[in-house]
Amino acid sequence: MINHKFFQEDYCVNPEMDKNKMRRELKSFIDKIQFFDMHSHMAGFDLGTPVQDKKPVTLYEILTNDYLAYLSGSWIDKPIMPAKIDEKKPSLSYADIKHLLNRCRALTTYCAIREGIRALHPFTEPDIDEKNWNRINKSIMRAYGRYGERKWQRMACKKASVFRQVHIATLPYVTTHLDSLPEEEKNQQLKIFAPSMVLDGYIFTGFKVQHDAKEMSYDIIGIRPKTLEEYLIFCDKVLELFRKKGGKSVKLLSSYFRPLKFEEIDRKRAEHLFNIGYKNLSKKALHILQNFILKQILLMAKKRGFPLIVHTGYANPTTYGDPEDLENLLKDSKLDGLKISICHSGWPNDGKAMIMARTYRHCYFDLSWTPLLSESLGYRILSEAIDMIPSNKILIGTDCGTAECFAGTVRLIRKTICDVLSDKISRQIFDIETAKLIAKAVLHDNAIEFHNEKNGEGYAG
Ligand SMILES: [Zn+2]
Repeated sequence: MINHKFFQEDYCVNPEMDKNKMRRELKSFIDKIQFFDMHSHMAGFDLGTPVQDKKPVTLYEILTNDYLAYLSGSWIDKPIMPAKIDEKKPSLSYADIKHLLNRCRALTTYCAIREGIRALHPFTEPDIDEKNWNRINKSIMRAYGRYGERKWQRMACKKASVFRQVHIATLPYVTTHLDSLPEEEKNQQLKIFAPSMVLDGYIFTGFKVQHDAKEMSYDIIGIRPKTLEEYLIFCDKVLELFRKKGGKSVKLLSSYFRPLKFEEIDRKRAEHLFNIGYKNLSKKALHILQNFILKQILLMAKKRGFPLIVHTGYANPTTYGDPEDLENLLKDSKLDGLKISICHSGWPNDGKAMIMARTYRHCYFDLSWTPLLSESLGYRILSEAIDMIPSNKILIGTDCGTAECFAGTVRLIRKTICDVLSDKISRQIFDIETAKLIAKAVLHDNAIEFHNEKNGEGYAG
């Protein structure tokens, strides 16, 4: 029971509360919630996996799929290249990765991957070492070889009680890739995955894969635009086809390359810049053209009920990912109603991100990736978000590239939510019933609301 005199009396923990019992009850409730994961790359990253995906994947590839390989660039002269699961690789041994692991064993990211491997390929030793390496490696190779990557991922989703997942994708993903799969498997994929199309290629920014996806889109749509007007028609057709093929939202990751400030630009000026050709523009002029095109694409997205997920925070320099720069979009009356998720908590500008979510009706605070980056950061930011943001506006997701990393991250997310909420209960901020409502909102209800869906099933609301 909550002591209603809490704020008038000495601050103290409720002495009558059986903390362990309360925590057990809350944990069992949280573990059973069907989770709508707001962020993932595991179903074949931007372009999808080959139809034939029954290829053994090694433990080395799982460990170096993304984050740990990326981090190696900061501490050795010859960085480890991220392992791509669809590439042919010689089977690498423990000796090849020992140095990387020994520097990463304390990182939350490594711990989550390790625990995900344990969940899917059980081992009892405290860590991965030369003694259990071969055994775990064989189990992983067997699973991917027998089921194929996609089915293995669907099995991991079921095991983790994840019923839906935002998959960061491209137009070729929902057309060329999904259409290449047998009809039944395509439907199974679409039942779980809510594709989010990265817009960056269409505003002439992003990574190489987004530029490639835009080039492929010209062929898919069958248009080679010559003027800005034709280009915008092309973009509109891209969004419409994406919607027809099961697309659910759009994603912007431009803060890896430029600030998130998208100012209002006169159409004549944009036409002039478009005619020069984006490759011939100065950085400043290119940004002006991007500002115009993005706004037009967001109007098209709003028309179709797509929400927008924006990569904020983690960028180099971090000023590029400043969530406050999104004010221009949130204040724009023409874009009113467009839901915007401030993804990755805006960290290290998480305070600004929270102010945005508290201020703007359609702005959501999204902790995707945050707990995986650091469990103490995840705890602190979630705790503050629950303290100050209405509970229907907090989202969370895994942001992983493999089933193993995903399985560990789902556990970490559920544990973080349980830790934060049970601490608040024991400090009498609220009771267990309120805690349960918050947990269900963050893991399940809010992602459905964000996607304008009903009970997780798509509807054009
Ligand atoms: Zn991501």
